[in-house]
Amino acid sequence: MNGNLNITEIEAKSILRKMNKIDSWFLCVSGMNIYRGCEHACVYCDGRTEKYQVAGEFGEEITVKRNAAELLQEELQKYSNKSGLIMIGGGVGDSYQPAEKDYKLTRQILEIIKAHKLPIHILTKSTLVLRDIDIIKELNAATKVIVSMSFSSVDDELSELLEPGVAPPSARLAALQEFKNAGISCGMYLMPTIPYITDTPQKIEECFQKASQLDLDFIVYTGLTLKEGRQKQFFYKFLERHYPELIDQYDDLYQEGNKWGSPNQDYSESFGHFLLTLSQKYKMPLRLPIDLVSPYLTPKDQVIATLDQIDYLRKIRGQKSSFGYTAYNISKLKEDMYQLRYCLESIKGVGPVTERIILEILNKGNSSYYDKLLRSWSN
Ligand code: SF4
Repeated sequence: MNGNLNITEIEAKSILRKMNKIDSWFLCVSGMNIYRGCEHACVYCDGRTEKYQVAGEFGEEITVKRNAAELLQEELQKYSNKSGLIMIGGGVGDSYQPAEKDYKLTRQILEIIKAHKLPIHILTKSTLVLRDIDIIKELNAATKVIVSMSFSSVDDELSELLEPGVAPPSARLAALQEFKNAGISCGMYLMPTIPYITDTPQKIEECFQKASQLDLDFIVYTGLTLKEGRQKQFFYKFLERHYPELIDQYDDLYQEGNKWGSPNQDYSESFGHFLLTLSQKYKMPLRLPIDLVSPYLTPKDQVIATLDQIDYLRKIRGQKSSFGYTAYNISKLKEDMYQLRYCLESIKGVGPVTERIILEILNKGNSSYYDKLLRSWSN
């Protein structure tokens, strides 16, 4: 563990957070933060953003929910939602950060989930996840597990600068290889790529090459966001120290007043277009393919996630889309999909094309239009 680390143990009141709508990036319907704060201390981490209310100096203070396993045991007794993946990781603290070596809370959580045979998606930057490969394999045999790692590049030297607290990308890729060898679906989250540092065509293509060599199931990308306040200030200090020549370009890219801290639209569009080219060249889906997990989703969640992903896959091609709007409207309705199928035309945003897509999902279990967008090289 980090010598400067300050750990606060707490008795949390709850652990499982149910999402209002299936998350189409990870295909999960609920998730949990076992740790708040993260020893990995990646320089770009948006866990520093004030809205997450992570106390103290980010990277030097973590809060441990020491009763996480007992809470989960209790909450799963009442958990009616047996369909849909539970997310382990992401959020404001890696579930496999160094503290986990001693606390073993994530391992206890996995044991409980295994007893309930619930499907999960693990996202981490730590090779400590290999410690739990025994449970993960057993759970995958009973239901479905996805193991994903996040990267800002596959360059070990750059990673040392940007992600000083984690294993180098080469070690993360080796871990993914072990999970693939064990028959587990695996993905790479390029989350985030760092403008002018890790987003060069050569660096991004290296990611696709590695992912393709390992036969990973998908690559999902998101660009760096810099929200005003703690996160942006910290990142700018990093730039001043290591890349002062880039500051003017960052000022242009990240204009003040953007609520989400997103880079400007031209950058995002041209980068998206480049990713599409690589996705086709390396036959690598740019979303977590829904068919990997569709047996574990309710028909309604499958419809919502498919429409959301179609929205993304159209927009990255520069096409207009209201599929995301329709997905949102469906998510707000109480009825299940078999009730809704008889009144689809009354749902806001559903026109003849969307209606055909939804009925195809309900009748055949997938959408040929979605598949054409996701795997455009095979058409
Ligand atoms: S591993 Fe994830 S949560 Fe932890 S500091 Fe890095 S980006 Fe943030």
